[in-house]
Amino acid sequence: MLEVLIIGAGATGLTLAIELQRRGVTFRLIDVAGGPFGGSRGKGLQPRSLEIFDMIGVADDVLAESSLYQPIQLHFGPFTKQIRSLGTHCEPTVGCPHPNMRMVPQWRTEQALRAHLTALGGSVEFGVGLQTLEQRDDVVFCSLTSGETIEARYVAGCDGGRSTTRKALELQLVGKSLGDKTMIVADFALAGLDRDFWHVWPLHSCGRIVIAPLPQAGMWQLQAPEKLARHGLEQGLFRLLKKRPSKITWRSQFRNQIRMVEHYRVGNVFLAGDSAHLHPPSGAQGLNTGVQDAFNLGWKLVSALRCGDNGILDTYEAERLPIAAAMLNLTSTLHLNSSTKRGDMTNQLSIGYRNGPLAGSEAAAGPLGLQAGDRMPDMRLSDGRRLFEAMRDGNPVQIVMTDGERILVRPDGYVAGVGKEAIKAYQGFSVLEVSSLP
Ligand SMILES: Cc1cc2nc3c(=O)[nH]c(=O)nc-3n(C[C@H](O)[C@H](O)[C@H](O)COP(=O)(O)OP(=O)(O)OC[C@H]3O[C@@H](n4cnc5c(N)ncnc54)[C@H](O)[C@@H]3O)c2cc1C
Repeated sequence: MLEVLIIGAGATGLTLAIELQRRGVTFRLIDVAGGPFGGSRGKGLQPRSLEIFDMIGVADDVLAESSLYQPIQLHFGPFTKQIRSLGTHCEPTVGCPHPNMRMVPQWRTEQALRAHLTALGGSVEFGVGLQTLEQRDDVVFCSLTSGETIEARYVAGCDGGRSTTRKALELQLVGKSLGDKTMIVADFALAGLDRDFWHVWPLHSCGRIVIAPLPQAGMWQLQAPEKLARHGLEQGLFRLLKKRPSKITWRSQFRNQIRMVEHYRVGNVFLAGDSAHLHPPSGAQGLNTGVQDAFNLGWKLVSALRCGDNGILDTYEAERLPIAAAMLNLTSTLHLNSSTKRGDMTNQLSIGYRNGPLAGSEAAAGPLGLQAGDRMPDMRLSDGRRLFEAMRDGNPVQIVMTDGERILVRPDGYVAGVGKEAIKAYQGFSVLEVSSLP
């Protein structure tokens, strides 16, 4: 029997696959699409996702062709006004090596994750989709579009907003659409537009239009009401910019929605990413939240498979569902106010699980004021590595501080416990012990 079947090879499914592959779990990763996704769609990577990519060992590749967010030029007819960027421009510190949101087209993030999975020995099966699933006696029977039936111990539905997995579980995406406009998102090449700025038409007769320079030479992302393209997208862009795009490489439609499920788990089947929560693009939270769902679920599946500790899997919903709910509140507020306030609110560095089931009821503050459930900052270790580099082994890490205090870090980079004594109990993992540098 297969240990895990992952449905969907977007950023969420790929992150989960890497988490399982690097810990020796047998899994298959299927995607109904004929090949890799080709659009820039979720282009804003938040600092916490970059830390996760650092702990996985893929950050350098993801960031190789990235940019900071540029300031915004607002266009009102012939007048323009400049306002600050949606992203911060802070200097890295030892504890926070990735302080700024970076722009990386979604196709490029997925490409880097796929390459990393391949280097680890895993792969994506494109052209194979989930049709139905049924659970009996702790086994999930999945029928695929290829005609195959797979028996899996666990299934992860990372299959996006129209998730077949979610429908098979009879879970609803509860929430609403924000407005009734169908929007288009498109990637196009165009010369002669100032690439040091985002260009925004807040009061255009079609509605709000945003054009952002992508890190790839000459490429732009458009987000606009569909009305802009009523005489064709190329013509709509020409009327707006008085310049014709030399090529349109990708386009798609979307609706601004805030919706989420009431459960992340039914039996041995889990939901992660857009299959569990849908955000409007404002605040750049969707893909980032999916990556963090996967990073939370991955080590817990490993623990359950290695030790039969099924209970750890309940902590996935308990920890992640409130985060998705908070993110939805935030993104809908940003969307409804057309707010350009970002930074600490959206960078996802303050996300933690202090009130979660793994934090314990008598959590005390330890070194650096940290307590169980907090995000563990990066730090220099006496063996010459950074903590995030040491996390690449995929194990919990016990840090002995210079004053003898200890911090145990979970495999997903959150504090498991603090204290004077060694904290070794961690089902299914061997704890890596390291010392901090003063
Ligand atoms: C205009 C726009 C801008 C955005 N900007 C941002 C941003 O800046 N930052 C951010 O974080 N997010 C952003 N998002 C959201 C982001 O794109 C999504 O949250 C992200 O794609 C979710 O990733 P995922 O892997 O969960 O799902 P998806 O990317 O939807 O991937 C799901 C995968 O599952 C596959 N699949 C579907 N059905 C099946 C099946 N039955 N069997 C097998 N495979 C299946 C699909 O082919 C697909 O590859 C934006 C979205 C839009 C529309």
